[in-house]
Amino acid sequence: MVRLNSPEMDHISVCQINLYQQCSLKYKFRYIDKIPSAFISVNLAFGSAIHSSLAWLHEEIVKGNMPTLEEFQQVFSIEWYSQTIEENINYNGCNWTELLEKGKAMLALYHENPAKEIQAIESGFIIPIINPATGEQLDTPLKGIFDLVLSSGTIVEFKTAGKTFDLMLLHKMLQLTAYSYAFEYLYKQKPSNLKLIAFIKNKNPKMEQWETTRNEKDYIQFFNITKNIITGIKNKIFFPIYTYLCKDCEYLEECKKWEGK
Ligand code: SF4
Repeated sequence: MVRLNSPEMDHISVCQINLYQQCSLKYKFRYIDKIPSAFISVNLAFGSAIHSSLAWLHEEIVKGNMPTLEEFQQVFSIEWYSQTIEENINYNGCNWTELLEKGKAMLALYHENPAKEIQAIESGFIIPIINPATGEQLDTPLKGIFDLVLSSGTIVEFKTAGKTFDLMLLHKMLQLTAYSYAFEYLYKQKPSNLKLIAFIKNKNPKMEQWETTRNEKDYIQFFNITKNIITGIKNKIFFPIYTYLCKDCEYLEECKKWEGK
């Protein structure tokens, strides 16, 4: 009998859950084999520049300052430059200057009416994963970061995307369920709302705002899905899922060579 050496897991992050669901083989390349990325996806670099700029704006608001739009856009320009200073960015047909202008246009939309009553910015957590119906606890805790928590008890998640979100995805998005569950665990009360602010970087950049909630049934489903994912990782169950995302995958060459062993 071949004895499997289970990968060590001192936690599972919301990003890891997302990635395993998206493509478990990509998860293996990144987190188990720790293969250095062949390139940095332009979408990742763009999303990081947007997130850092938003965090800066929110920190200024908490300090009692309201930056001008020009200052906000200047911060984004610096963030975009520093995110792309590495030479191994995969632009995948995109243009650096075009994305700079799109980022500025998207942030201008947010600057018109930014969050004001702010409780926490990019706040990290690590909490146990418990089935609310049975009390069963997984031996791997959940790690994550709230982009923004408002004093009203609203959790805000920022996303950049190439196209509009579909509502089915919004209501089932495991990431939002994880944040709602984490909020309830940490604050001992339900979040009043889960708000997704999506910056859509199509020809005419736009900002979409969606609101949703979660309940105990969602937390039970989240518990069971996460339990299955952890079991899959520990039992080395990894396989490719070929989608449109493959063209932007930094492990495409490893994937082509992978024989399924
Ligand atoms: S190329 Fe596609 S199938 Fe292969 S690892 Fe990347 S995302 Fe998965």
